[in-house]
Amino acid sequence: MVKFLALFDHEPRVGRVAGCAVNCVPNSCPFVKFVSSQLATFNSQHATTSPPFLTSLLPFRTLLPLMADAKTTELMEKIVSLCKRRGFIFQSSEIYGGLNGFWDYGPLGAELKRNIKEAWWRSMTLLRDDVVGLEATIIMHPKIWEASGHTSTFSDLMVDCLLTKKRFRADQVEPQSGIAYFYTGATDGASGKESKDSFSVLLPPGKPPESARKVAKQFYQQRGVENTTLIGERTEQVKDTIRYNPENGSLLTEPRPFNLMLKTYVGPVESEDNKSYLRPETAQAIFAQFKNVLEVSRQKVPFGICQIGKAFRNEINPRNFTFRSREFEQMELEFFIRPDEAVEAIYGNVATPSGPGHPGEPQPNWGWQMWHQYWVEERFRFYENIGLPRTSLVEYWQKSDELAHYARATVDILYKFPFSKRDEKGELMGEELEGVAARSDFDLSQHQRFSGKQMTAFDEELKAAWPKLDDAKKTALSQRYFESRKKYLVKVGEPEAKAEKQAKEESDALTKGYYIPHVIEPSAGVDRLALALICNAYGEDQAPDEKGKMETRVVMKFHPRIAPVKVAVFPLLKNKPELVKKAKEVRDLLRPHMSVFYDEAGAIGRRYRRQDEAGTPFGVTIDFDTLGEKGPELQETVTLRERDSMKQERLKIADLPQRLLATIR
Ligand code: ATP
Repeated sequence: MVKFLALFDHEPRVGRVAGCAVNCVPNSCPFVKFVSSQLATFNSQHATTSPPFLTSLLPFRTLLPLMADAKTTELMEKIVSLCKRRGFIFQSSEIYGGLNGFWDYGPLGAELKRNIKEAWWRSMTLLRDDVVGLEATIIMHPKIWEASGHTSTFSDLMVDCLLTKKRFRADQVEPQSGIAYFYTGATDGASGKESKDSFSVLLPPGKPPESARKVAKQFYQQRGVENTTLIGERTEQVKDTIRYNPENGSLLTEPRPFNLMLKTYVGPVESEDNKSYLRPETAQAIFAQFKNVLEVSRQKVPFGICQIGKAFRNEINPRNFTFRSREFEQMELEFFIRPDEAVEAIYGNVATPSGPGHPGEPQPNWGWQMWHQYWVEERFRFYENIGLPRTSLVEYWQKSDELAHYARATVDILYKFPFSKRDEKGELMGEELEGVAARSDFDLSQHQRFSGKQMTAFDEELKAAWPKLDDAKKTALSQRYFESRKKYLVKVGEPEAKAEKQAKEESDALTKGYYIPHVIEPSAGVDRLALALICNAYGEDQAPDEKGKMETRVVMKFHPRIAPVKVAVFPLLKNKPELVKKAKEVRDLLRPHMSVFYDEAGAIGRRYRRQDEAGTPFGVTIDFDTLGEKGPELQETVTLRERDSMKQERLKIADLPQRLLATIR
C-alpha cells in the first residue's frame, strides 16, 4: 500500500471551493473543478458549509510546502487544463458536477491508453513464448476475496473531522505542532441544554485562544448547545501530532479500518447471501484460473499468465488528478516459478544474482531472486522503451516492515510526478507506478485452502531428478520444503498438528514432482502510467509564429510508440482541389498502418501547433512541389516535419510508410 504521502492537495484553494455542493463549483477553470471534485467530501450527504476559519488557519502549513505546492500547482494546472482542452481526460459525469475519483478519457486519451495497453500486451505475451493472456470477469465469487485476504484486510485506516465530517486517510494527515485546547463539554444557560462530549482544537503557535473557542463552539452548537458556554478549558503544548484536521484544527476521530472494496449484489435480491464485490485487482482471477490455463496452454512452470482490466477501490481520498482513482485499469502478470527446493533438486544448485542489473536471458536454474530481479529490470526496460527515461524513475525496495507477510521482496517502480514529495535535497522522491513482488506460494495456497481444489503443478523433470539425489540432499530439501509449508499453514491459522500433517504430505508430494508454484508479480496501473507519460511529455519551448515572431509553443513530446496520433497530413491549402486530393491519397496510404489525422483548416503553422499539443510526432505537408509544379524531381515528394526538433525534410511519398513505421514499432 501507500509508501509516500503526496503534497498535491492544494490547501491554498480550500477557502474557494470547500463547502460547495458537488454541483455548485466554478465553471471558468477546469482545474478548480478538478480540485473541487477532489476536495468535495464523498458525496452530498457529507457536504458541509464552509467554516469561516478555514482560510484563516492556512498558516498551519509551513511556508516551504506551500512554496513547493505553488510550483507544483502551476505545472499541474497547465497539464490538467491541457488534458481537458485537447481531450485527453475529462471529469466523469461532468455535466452533473463530476464524481470524485472517476475520470473519462477523451479521443486523444483513449488512443493513448490503448497504445499503452497494446505496448504492454505485446511485450508481455506476444513477444514471449512463456506468457499467455487471460480476460476474466470483474465480479467473481466472493470466496475469492476471502481467500486473497481482501475481505478481512484490504483496508486503509481512516479518520473523520469531528466538525466537518471530512474524511482523511490516517497516514495522509501531516504532523502538526501547536497548542491543543481541551474542553470537557458545554452548556446553554438559556435553554439548559448541555453536552458532556469532550472535544479539542489545535492552534498553531501565536494564534489567539479565541480561534480555538470559536471552533469548539461550532462543535457544541452542532450538538444542540446554541448559546454555548464552554466547560473545562485547559491547554497543552503538542508536537507532531496527527490527531487534528490540518484545515480547521478540529479533533479527528480515532483511526478505523475502512474496507476499500466496492460492494454490489448479484441477482434480484439484495441480501447478504448475494453480496459480491467489484474486483479491487485483476490478479486474483489469474490465480483462480491457474489450473485451467495450465491444462489448456501446454505451458510448464516457469510460465506466466497476464491480464489487463478494470479494478475498483473505494479510495478514502482520491487525489492528484487520476493518480489515485476509484475506478482504474491494471496490467498484471503472475509469473509462476518452481520453489527453490525443486530447482535445486533438478539442477544441483540455485542461481542467485551476482550483482545489480539485468541478469540476461532466463536460465533453468534460476531461483526466485533471479526471477524477481529479471522482472524488475524487464519492467524498467519497458518504461524506457515507451519514453520514460531511467532518470525519471526510482527503484524503491520495500523495507521489511512494509512487506506483506508472505512477500519475500517487493520493488516499487516510482515515477517522479511533479506532485511527488521531495527529499531533504529537494529531489522528487516519486510515486508508485508499479510493484514487482515476489509473493512466494501464498496466493495459490490460499485458493487451494478455500476452494478445496488442488493448485499444484506436476513437474516431470523434478520427478525424474529426485530418485537420483543422495539421501542427505533428499532429506535437506524435503525438510526445507516442509518447514516453509508448515510456516505458511501456521501463519494462516491452521492448528499446529494439522499444519504439520499437511506440510508432511506436501513435502512427500514434492518428491514425486508436485508442488504449488511460487509467483513473481509485476503489477502496473494503466492510468498512472498514462498520467506519468502525460507529465513527462509536457513541454514548452519557443517557436516562430506565422510572421516569424517567436512565441511559446506547448508541445507533448510523447514517444512515437505511444503517441495517440502518429502522423498528421495537411494539404497546404484547402481550396486547391489537386492538393486536397493528393493529401487524401497520402492519408489513405498511411491509414492501414497507423493512426492518421487529416487537417485542412487554418494556416499551416497553426495546424502544426495543434498537433504539437496533441503530441503527434510527425506532420506531412502536401504542397505544389508534390504536384510537380517545380519540375519532376520534387513530384510525388512531401515535407515531413518532426515535432520535437521542428526540422523539415523532403521525401518520397512511397518511402513514408516505412520511414514512419520504423519509429513507431
Ligand atoms: P498505492 O500504494 O499507491 O495505493 P498499491 O500498492 O495499493 O498502490 P497495488 O495494489 O500494488 O497498488 O496495485 C498495483 C498498481 O495498480 C499500482 O502500482 C498502481 O499503478 C495501480 N493502482 C492501485 N491503486 C490505484 C488507484 N487507486 N488509482 C489508480 N491506479 C491504482
